[in-house]
Amino acid sequence: MSLNRIMTAAIAMLAALALAGAASLIILTTYLHRTTESMGSAVEGVRLAEALQVDLLSLYRLSDSLLRIPADSPRSFAAIESGLRLHLDEARRNAWSSEEQALISEAERTISNYLLARESVANLPPVEASRQLVPRLEEALAVLDRLVVFNVNEARGIQLQADRWDQLANLGGICVAALLVLGGGSLLWWMRRFVFRPLLDMSRAMRRFGTGRKRTRAPESGPVELRDMARTFNEMANSLARQQEEQLTFLAGVAHDLRNPLSALKMSAALVTSGRPIPEERMQKTMALVRRQVARLDRMVGDLLDATRIEAGRFELSLEERDVRELATSVVELYLAGGSSHDLRLHLPEEPVLLSCDATRVEQVLHNLVSNALKYSQGGSRVDVIVGREGEEAVLSVVDRGIGISSEELRTLFAPFRRTGRAREKAPGVGLGLSVARRIVEAHGGRIAVESRPGEGSTFHVRLPRAHAAAHPAGPGDATPSPAGTVH
Ligand code: ADP
Repeated sequence: MSLNRIMTAAIAMLAALALAGAASLIILTTYLHRTTESMGSAVEGVRLAEALQVDLLSLYRLSDSLLRIPADSPRSFAAIESGLRLHLDEARRNAWSSEEQALISEAERTISNYLLARESVANLPPVEASRQLVPRLEEALAVLDRLVVFNVNEARGIQLQADRWDQLANLGGICVAALLVLGGGSLLWWMRRFVFRPLLDMSRAMRRFGTGRKRTRAPESGPVELRDMARTFNEMANSLARQQEEQLTFLAGVAHDLRNPLSALKMSAALVTSGRPIPEERMQKTMALVRRQVARLDRMVGDLLDATRIEAGRFELSLEERDVRELATSVVELYLAGGSSHDLRLHLPEEPVLLSCDATRVEQVLHNLVSNALKYSQGGSRVDVIVGREGEEAVLSVVDRGIGISSEELRTLFAPFRRTGRAREKAPGVGLGLSVARRIVEAHGGRIAVESRPGEGSTFHVRLPRAHAAAHPAGPGDATPSPAGTVH
């Protein structure tokens, strides 16, 4: 159920109802207008028929000597006769139906019969004249009566029809109003139940989440759009909760890892400041321990600082052209000078492998890989650092025969704060080194990858684009370093 579809359907329904209401109003007013016209014409028909009857009776009265009006009064007679003809013309024009036309023709015929007879009896004695005129007069008056009845009936018919239309309009109006009330009411109910309630629930959940109740989630109900909103909020809340959990785990890890070197330093400081004479050999051992712990602390704090800089987007490289062989040699020599118990070997090609890079950062990546290789493998086991070329790229590989990484753990290895279960038991660490290394390599336009098998060891490959690649075309044996370059 989509909010968009429901709203479109509701608006379409209301628009259709409004259109139907408007159309029926137009039809009704047009019909009313026509009814009024027909009614007016019927009333006019009655008026004209009665006016004609009055005209006829007035003519008859003029010719009646008993009423003492001179029969030969030409002005009165002519005025009445012209009035009579005028009324006949009007009645013909007013007539709509063929039936009424026929009645008017008949009235015309009987009236002219009467007028002709009236002229023919002008010289007869009044009694004889009346005897001949009265039947013709009555015939004309009867036709005019029929005309009156016809128009009255017509008016009654129109009134009946108007009554029927009135009832129909009332019914239509009630239906449209009921549908509007029903449709509007249902829409309102639906909006309250499926739109406003989920919206209120969601806003309540957001407010609760904002006040610190991090387990609060919005109910995923209502139309598709609101369900999507609730799902997005819940996903965001889950991700925030996950991030917070990760940060807490990270803080706990940092606190735990900082504690070991700090307690070692505390013990060493207590020994040195105890005031008791310390044998030279013991002093040397304590100083070596202090150096190692300070280096560890330095690395941890450095990783933390780098990760913070990367997250804040304040990570910059100062590029210069350097030979990777030099960088790899300086890193490996540092470990060899530190008296590593591993069989650490460096393999270099004869030709220089030039990079446009931030040398300190590339060394940092190598440091991390070598220190991990040493950390996560048995003392005395072999660790190889190999520099090579593959096409346009310089390849730095660090190979160990240590505890290895499971395929499941490999997938999230480069994410921050990820530490494998076995590594946690084996050596302290924060789980930031590899994620920082990946960001450094990617900032140089390169890639970092790992191949590993639990119990067999791991190989990390760093591929970086070479500087002046054209000046040193890659040969077929580029990836294999020359044994002559091997350093122990
Ligand atoms: P740290 O070593 O400080 O924990 P890193 O980011 O360098 O952090 O490494 C992340 C995790 O990857 C390590 O905790 C470990 O579980 C795993 N790892 C890295 N290098 C190796 C390796 N050479 N052999 C086995 N596991 C490794």
